[in-house]
Amino acid sequence: MRKPKSYYIETYGCQMNFSDSELVEGLLAGGGMRPAPSPDKAELVLVNTCGVREHAEQRVFGRLGALKTIKSGADFMLLGVIGCMAQRLGGKILEQAPWVDLVAGPDAYRALPQMLDELAGGNAVQLAQLELDGKETYEDLRPRRADPISAWVPVTRGCDNFCSYCIVPYVRGRERSVDADTVERWVRREVEGGAREIVLLGQNVNSYHDGDTDFAALLRRLDKVEGLGWLRFVTSHPRDLSDRIIEALAQCPTLCEHLHLPVQSGSDAVLGRMNRGYTRNYYLERVRALRQAVPGISLTTDILVGFPGESEEDFSRSVALMEEVRFDYAYTFRYSPRPGTRAGGWDDSVTDAEKGRRLEQVIALQLLHTRGALEAMTGRVIEAIPVREARSGDGKLQARTRSHFNVFLSADKSTVGKLLKVRITGNTGMNLYGELAE
Ligand code: SF4
Repeated sequence: MRKPKSYYIETYGCQMNFSDSELVEGLLAGGGMRPAPSPDKAELVLVNTCGVREHAEQRVFGRLGALKTIKSGADFMLLGVIGCMAQRLGGKILEQAPWVDLVAGPDAYRALPQMLDELAGGNAVQLAQLELDGKETYEDLRPRRADPISAWVPVTRGCDNFCSYCIVPYVRGRERSVDADTVERWVRREVEGGAREIVLLGQNVNSYHDGDTDFAALLRRLDKVEGLGWLRFVTSHPRDLSDRIIEALAQCPTLCEHLHLPVQSGSDAVLGRMNRGYTRNYYLERVRALRQAVPGISLTTDILVGFPGESEEDFSRSVALMEEVRFDYAYTFRYSPRPGTRAGGWDDSVTDAEKGRRLEQVIALQLLHTRGALEAMTGRVIEAIPVREARSGDGKLQARTRSHFNVFLSADKSTVGKLLKVRITGNTGMNLYGELAE
């Protein structure tokens, strides 16, 4: 066995996972390995996994089966599983997929080069997921960016909330914040490197704190970074959405008028069982405060249907909340129990058929609301950043708006990465069409 010279990383799950893949890429490329264009051209293939839902894990096992075929046809290839599922299942992955060579959880990425050395030295399968470090922030690592325009900057890792359905605190450990000086240095480095947009990341990003610097203070500090175009952050917990953060959203010019604020359910009984730490009324009050401070702010959310004990009446309260808020977009999910979480041991009482019906209902409702939000934008002039040529092949550019919609427009390729004024001319029901306004 020898050390691999090239790598390919396949990533599933949330933005934090994609950001972690960039960190791992930086680590491997810094050690002299080169990126490969596809798994069959790589000597090391890493699958960065998500463990949040059963379905996501099944998909990974399916993918590992396909990679086994590639591996058996290759002269030399190592296969690794990293991320949340690696942390959750550890050695059990090897029982189902014994052709895997290494398994490493989210706090163990620094060990990857050493694990590759060990494998090269003839030692068998490497496991480095067992203890969550609890302090790791990787703040000295240089990520290898996939997107030259938008840069993720992880400012917190882990989560202390223990929502009863969520695996994150068990697989990513307790919440920790990167110190504010380091965050500012990262943001400056990315902006100097050409990033127009910075997205601050954390499982519960708005509970960030470093000494006296809370999240609002961090936002105000970063807002002053010269050359920064747009600043946004994800994912926010409603309970930690302070008045100070709302004021910062209203007052900092770089902060985009968009907030992803997962509500999960509109029923107090369900929210209580979920251990979300807020009520329906509290959530609606935060929405009112946001809309008063930042008129026209785009709000997106997560809705989880079929949680244990969710009655028809509980579900109708989620629907009513969606009607009241009219989110611009909602990520909708059906509940599936996760072993190791509190709710994982509860009676999964809503039938699959009923979960499916509820999911379809919220998806249909959200489509209506999204279309309404897009139609309301017709004729308006907004700020957008073209990010690439559109995949449609019709010569249009795909741009992002401050409210986080896609807008397709006819503009010269040289405008990619520039802040433009765009007049909205129509929509597809999910995306916008526009033209240059000046
Ligand atoms: S806030 Fe709740 S849902 Fe989000 S990562 Fe933490 S425990 Fe999971």
